[in-house]
Amino acid sequence: MATLGKLVEGKVAIVTGSSRGIGRAIALKLAECGADVAINYSKSADAAKEVAAQIEGMGRKCLVVQADVSSFADAQKMVDEVVEKLGTLDIMVCNAGINKDGVIWKMTEEQWDQVIDVNLKGYFNYCRAAIPVFREKQYGKIVNIASINGLRGKFGQSNYTAAKGGIIAFTKTMARDLGNKNINCNVVAPGLIATEMVQAMDEEAKDKSRKEIILGRIGEPEEVANVVAFLASDFASHITGQTLNVDGGQLM
Ligand code: NAP
Repeated sequence: MATLGKLVEGKVAIVTGSSRGIGRAIALKLAECGADVAINYSKSADAAKEVAAQIEGMGRKCLVVQADVSSFADAQKMVDEVVEKLGTLDIMVCNAGINKDGVIWKMTEEQWDQVIDVNLKGYFNYCRAAIPVFREKQYGKIVNIASINGLRGKFGQSNYTAAKGGIIAFTKTMARDLGNKNINCNVVAPGLIATEMVQAMDEEAKDKSRKEIILGRIGEPEEVANVVAFLASDFASHITGQTLNVDGGQLM
């Protein structure tokens, strides 16, 4: 694939959940496009180190931070550390996500709380910590990863889709709150993308989703990362409060 060029040259980014999958692809893409990148993970230390080595191999700085995104205090700590060690913060990409599926009549309180804590509160935590830095410098890019299922609902995913729909509404409100400070807030909503999260789906559900995709194939993490890099760059300076589906036409 052709490279995007130095879209975010000299910028500093945080990508949550960037040890694997879509987050990993976003962290690598932002580095390839010229940014220093702080990566975050909860359990996959070796995978996170491998991403960091690749970023440093591109001549960019990288910070690796282990933190559960559902902790408000840890989010503030990570942003403070990034500003101290990488000099500033320009781009916040919230991506870390999990699923704990179950039909609504069987969903437990624990399944509900775990997914909302990581997939919705985790996004609030990192945006809330980053925004004072952005307001101070009157510059910032927030890109939140939701899902097309946050726009339409999905069988057995009431917790996950509530979080994803919440991310979309939350990001639109942030766009309104922060527009006068030159801070762009947007959402990327992927369809079915080839990561471990999708490998874990049962074959029947995966097949059903695959058949919905107009382009006839599951997307690659890098195809999401390309759009995130664009939205995180000044080429998207007049775009805010938007949700861009990267789904091969799956939701159309
Ligand atoms: P994935 O392959 O399962 O990777 C998830 C990433 O999030 C890992 O790096 C994981 O790190 C991290 N993570 C999970 N819980 C965390 C926590 N509590 N704190 C910090 N990091 C945590 O998932 P993915 O498919 O790349 O999904 C990434 C995002 O895209 C999610 O928000 C997901 O909902 C969304 N999405 C995915 C698809 C898809 O088809 N794949 C479609 C639509 C939307 P550790 O391994 O260290 O825990």
